[in-house]
Amino acid sequence: FSKLQQGLSKTRDSIAKGIDNVFSGYSNIDDDFYEELEETLIMGDIGINATSKIMDELRSQVKDRHIKDPQECKQLLIEDIRNQMHTDENAYDFEDKKTVIFVIGVNGVGKTTSVGKLASIYKKKGKKVLIAAADTYRAAATEQLQSWADRAGTPIVSGREGADPASVIYDAVGAFKARDIDILIVDTAGRLHNKKNLMEELAKMNRIIDKELGNVCRENFIVLDGTTGQNALNQAREFGEAAQLTGIVLTKLDGTAKGGIAVAIVSELNIPVKYIGVGEGLDDLERFNSDEFVDALFE
Ligand code: GDP
Repeated sequence: FSKLQQGLSKTRDSIAKGIDNVFSGYSNIDDDFYEELEETLIMGDIGINATSKIMDELRSQVKDRHIKDPQECKQLLIEDIRNQMHTDENAYDFEDKKTVIFVIGVNGVGKTTSVGKLASIYKKKGKKVLIAAADTYRAAATEQLQSWADRAGTPIVSGREGADPASVIYDAVGAFKARDIDILIVDTAGRLHNKKNLMEELAKMNRIIDKELGNVCRENFIVLDGTTGQNALNQAREFGEAAQLTGIVLTKLDGTAKGGIAVAIVSELNIPVKYIGVGEGLDDLERFNSDEFVDALFE
């Protein structure tokens, strides 16, 4: 079993087994069969929209090809799920450029953990990485980030509790230049209740970067907790109003049977899922590849 398969084992047990049960439970393709299949996909958090697209496609293929045996359309279903997802070939180009990555998301989704894991991924690629602890509202957040930076073996710039996040960025940008850093990862405060605030904060930090680093590459990652199902979709939509999101980090897929949320996210939001979290360890963050994801679920 690959690490990805292991990480997705709960989802595999629910969706893949659930689908298998439907396919083996019917000898004819009828309305009940379709209905049960649809329910299974929705239960796996693939989402209503993606599910209805998948089901429409399956129905028309079954009709066009005059398929009578449910077993025969299983592979079609898997391909229809695959077609709801796509991988953007250029999604990781930033890794080889001078880049500032803002990591945003509500508290508890795995933001701090993901910052540490990302730092480790880039460091292992031979990049010079710096972390900025711009969540100055919680002293505990900075401490936690410090321990992740230690584990990843990367330097970190932080400010006092309550300090202006922009001042942390100012220091980070200075270190970026002085140490010839390649990738700066900025952990931001997880507050959504005031979108305007977040927008202004990001704008202020970006102005400092514009001024000091010129047009260095920018990424805005939103971290979403895979166990929160459709809530994750809503968070992405809300944060999307405050920042131009360039990627999703989908965490805790190992902790849920509803990993189908990845399908819903890719299908419904026009933002690439770039990394998925499949555990609590430093190395438990993987690049997302839709084909590998579907294979890990169904093969
Ligand atoms: P933050 O408040 O968003 O910064 O969240 P944290 O990074 O502190 O993470 C909250 C909890 O989620 C911690 O207990 C992490 O160990 C856990 N966590 C984060 N990512 C993953 C993941 O991919 N899998 C699992 N199982 N737990 C995770």
